Amino acid sequence: MKCIFCGGVGKYEQCEKCLFKGCQKCIVSHKDSCILFMKDKFHFCKDHNKHVDKYCFDCFHLTCEKCVVGNHLKHNILPICEAVHNIHGDIQSSIEELKIRIDQEQSAINYDTNKQTEYKLLVKQIDLEEQKIQECVTRTKATLLHNMERLQLTVDEKCTASKVILPAMRQARTTLQSVKHEKNAIIFLSRWSNPKSIIEKQELLKKEREEDDKAVVIGSDITRQLLDPFIRYNSNNQDSK
Ligand SMILES: [Zn+2]
Ligand SMILES: [Zn+2]
Ligand SMILES: [Zn+2]
Ligand SMILES: [Zn+2]
Repeated sequence: MKCIFCGGVGKYEQCEKCLFKGCQKCIVSHKDSCILFMKDKFHFCKDHNKHVDKYCFDCFHLTCEKCVVGNHLKHNILPICEAVHNIHGDIQSSIEELKIRIDQEQSAINYDTNKQTEYKLLVKQIDLEEQKIQECVTRTKATLLHNMERLQLTVDEKCTASKVILPAMRQARTTLQSVKHEKNAIIFLSRWSNPKSIIEKQELLKKEREEDDKAVVIGSDITRQLLDPFIRYNSNNQDSK
């Protein structure tokens, strides 16, 4: 009789303890698993409580003679020894394929972990950059405001100077008008005063005012003025890299 487990030829025997049935060779080799067979009854069909003899490749399940005409009708069913032989034929290539796929997933995990680290760094960098922009804008704002203050002060000073010089010039003019028709040379010279110094003073004031006006650039594009130092700082840094 051909043994359905090992494919060898021999008389069937049955183990008294676990009721496993097979050729003499299989009975001897099952001894290691006998306790397991007694406990879990792998060799008996759960549906029909009959000794299994075949394997269904549609359900990946051991079958008994009743299964074949019942639940597994028309399924791809092979005797156990053939099923084992077929599976053994594929097992090495499956092991190798799984190794390749395990490596693929492992490197995917490594790649993703690196990406995560990279993204975390980027988030930090965005934070830092934003902070840098803020600090730079705040500094520039302070400088602009300081300049504004200075300009206000200068304008104030010039305005005060004008207010001081104006009555002095009017006085000088009035004086000149009043002495213009004086016929007496002594009186004329004693009343006359030189207008040159006051005119020079006014000329100086006027020139200063013109210089100040040239220096004023504020008010053109405040956004650009606030961001310019940062952009320049950044491009300088990039150049030096
Ligand atoms: Zn056998
Ligand atoms: Zn046994
Ligand atoms: Zn069955
Ligand atoms: Zn089946």
